[in-house]
Parts: sequence; structure tokens; C-alpha cells
Amino acid sequence: MKKIALHWKIIIGMILGVILGFIMNSISGGKDFVTDWIAPFGTIFINLLKLIAVPLILASLIKGVSDLKDISKIKSMGLRTIAIYLCTTVVAIVIGLSIVNVVKPGAGMSADTLEKIKLKYENDAGVTDKLTKASAQQDAGPLQALVDIFPSNIFTALGEAKMLQVIFFALFVGICLLLIPEKKAKPLVRFFDSLNEVVMKMVDLIMLFAPYAVLALMANVIVAFDDTEILLKLLNYALCVIVGLVIMIVFYLILVKLYTKKSPIWFLNKMSPAQLLAFSTSSSAATLPVTMERVEEHIGVDKEVSGFVLPVGATVNMDGTSLYQGIAAVFIMQVVWPEGLTITNQLVIIATAILASVGSAAVPSAGMVMLVIVLESVGFPAELLPIGLALIFAVDRPLDMCRTVVNVTGDATVSMMVAKSLGKLHKPKPKNWDDHYEHVK
Ligand code: ASP
Repeated sequence: MKKIALHWKIIIGMILGVILGFIMNSISGGKDFVTDWIAPFGTIFINLLKLIAVPLILASLIKGVSDLKDISKIKSMGLRTIAIYLCTTVVAIVIGLSIVNVVKPGAGMSADTLEKIKLKYENDAGVTDKLTKASAQQDAGPLQALVDIFPSNIFTALGEAKMLQVIFFALFVGICLLLIPEKKAKPLVRFFDSLNEVVMKMVDLIMLFAPYAVLALMANVIVAFDDTEILLKLLNYALCVIVGLVIMIVFYLILVKLYTKKSPIWFLNKMSPAQLLAFSTSSSAATLPVTMERVEEHIGVDKEVSGFVLPVGATVNMDGTSLYQGIAAVFIMQVVWPEGLTITNQLVIIATAILASVGSAAVPSAGMVMLVIVLESVGFPAELLPIGLALIFAVDRPLDMCRTVVNVTGDATVSMMVAKSLGKLHKPKPKNWDDHYEHVK
């Protein structure tokens, strides 16, 4: 096992997990066994990754900003980051809308299938839960999202892992460290530098557990699928999303090649452990520590850049999610509300899907909650919302896994581009996981 590269170990873990899931599905009591005795190991792994995400953002951002030595550099990095994030999100939604309008996956659905889906999922707890969460989100005023960036208590922000609040606080501390005399700033900078190193080492150690954890996560995903018939009926829709996501990845690879002059294969190779984890966990937030480790130590993006671009991206830049939201919204309308499919409404979808992907939390199925808001923005009838969500519910988990890969890959690509534009893309220090393995053995 020792000589196999990490991404292969993770892939083997995933495959074994899928096989185990299918075996357990066919044995009586197998599903419960997976839920009770295997899935918790996946949860422990995700908890560990989330555990280090907040200290990592705090430490790397404070250190990164205080290293910049010049406040104007923060402004230029911030503006570049937001501008590129916005552009990639628009590209994602346009790709999604183009595919769904050409293929029209909703147009061919039979009344019989619709009835089956209605019966099975319309009152499903998962669907009603998304609707409740979406309405809570909507009750807030229009500027609430802005207000939410500014914490009133940093310990609450850290405790509740409010990413944007932590980012704001870290930037604030970093800037103030630049404004006070260097002698006074030094102890705190060194403290955060050291914390950063410790957390990075924690990522290394946690990743040793990754192949086993993905086995548990994948087995659990497989036993949770119980309706292959409906799944097959939704294949057209699911394929539209998957093709869109693949096009988006190709778009990133073109950007990597053209803008940073790096090889796309090399990029994929270096990023694959983070992508595989994004796929297994369906959470950009849980994957963030690994994304940062890969980008900094294997791609060569300077910590000043990655410390800012990646945490912000994990929270606000979700290209996979917005592409999915565009396709899902139009698909639902094609099936249950075709009269709403006007050009104006599709333009409204572009605008709201950008905001919705910014507002989606980096956790599993958050994109589906925000989809409700996208649908409501075009005047989708409220009484049709449960059936709308029911329609896509059965295939949401696999699509969530795929779109999270795109979200993470998008953030990594943009961090490379910002780094390149600021002259902060270096030759990576060669360091490989097997060395870590050797080291901790
Ligand atoms: N699971 C996605 C993420 O964490 C968000 C979504 O549901 O689209 O990036």
C-alpha cells in the first residue's frame, strides 16, 4: 500500500466502498450494518477536516496578509479574485442553460413517471426540510447577507464556523498587523505562522485516514440509494448536469494551460486527492484544508494568495452549484410549469443563480435549498414547489458529489490565476504523501 500514490489509494477505497455498499444492499440487515458500523468512520473523517478548517483559514490568512507588507496589494488581490470568480460563475450558468435548452430533458417525461415521483417524494422529509430551510433564508432582509459578513462576536463566528465572518476577522487582524510597528506585530505573526504549520501537519495526518474514510462514505452513499427505477427515468436530466460539469472542468483546464502555462494533466494529478474528497464528502468546506494543502505545496501558489482566494472561493464561488441550479430550475419548469419558460425568466435565473451560489453554504445539498430561491425569483407557483423538488430529489446526492468537485476545482484554478497575475505562482516544493507516511510510521 505504501508505494501507491495517495489518489490511487483513495480511488481504491472508493471502489471498495461501492462494492461493499452493493453487497450490503443485497444482504438482509446489511444497510443497517453500514449505517451503524461503517458510516460513522466517514463522519469522523469529515469532522476532523472541519475541525481544522477554521484555524487554518484564520492562521493562513492572518499570516498571508501580514506578509504582503502593503495594503494596496490586498485590494488588488481582492478585486482580481472577485472579478474572476464572477466571470467563471457566469460561464457556468450559461453552459448549464444552453445544455438544458438544447436537450430539453424535462420535455419527454411521461405522466406516469411524474405521478410515481409525486407519490414517492412529494412529502418526503428531505424535500420538506429543503423547503423549510429555503423559506427561513428568504425571510431575511435583502442586505442580510452583507450584514452576516461582519461578526459581533469572533468566538461565535469561530464556533459556528461562519467562514465569511472568520475571513473578515482574519483580514482585519492581518491589516492591523501591517499598520502597527513591526516589532510589536512580530510575536502574533509568528504565532499564526506556527499555528499554520501545525494545522498543515494535521492535514497530512488526517489524509492518511482518507482511503478508509472514503470507503465508509461511499458504502453509505450506495446503501442510501433505494430507487434505481426513478433514478433511470431521470437519467436525461442527470446527464445534462454531468456533461455541463465536465465542460466546466475542461474550461478550467484551458484556463490553466493558457493563463498559467501549466500542463492540465499535471494540474489534475496534483489536485486529484482534493477532487476525490470533494466527491466523497459533497462538501467544499470539509475539503478546504486539503484543497489548501494541494494548492500551496503541490501546485506552488503562494500562501498569501491561497490563504485568501481559497476560503473565499469555498464560500462564495460555486460554479458547479450554479450550473446545476440553472439546469435544475429549467428542467423543473419544463416538466411542471412550461409556460414560465420565457427568455426574461432565463435571464432572471442567470442573475439569481449567481447570488444563490454565493449564498449556498459549502455543505451537502445546500445547492438544492438555494434552488428554491432561484425558482421563486421567476414567480414559480408556490404550490408546485414540493413536486418541483421531488422531481430532482432522487438524483441530488450523486449530482451534489459531482458539482462539489467542480466547485473545488474552480477555486483551485482561480487561485492559480490570481497567483500568476501577481507573480506568486512558484515552483512547488516537492513533497509527497508517501514521505509523510514514512515520517509518521
Ligand atoms: N455541496 C456543495 C458544496 O459543498 C454545495 C451544493 O450543494 O451545491 O460545494
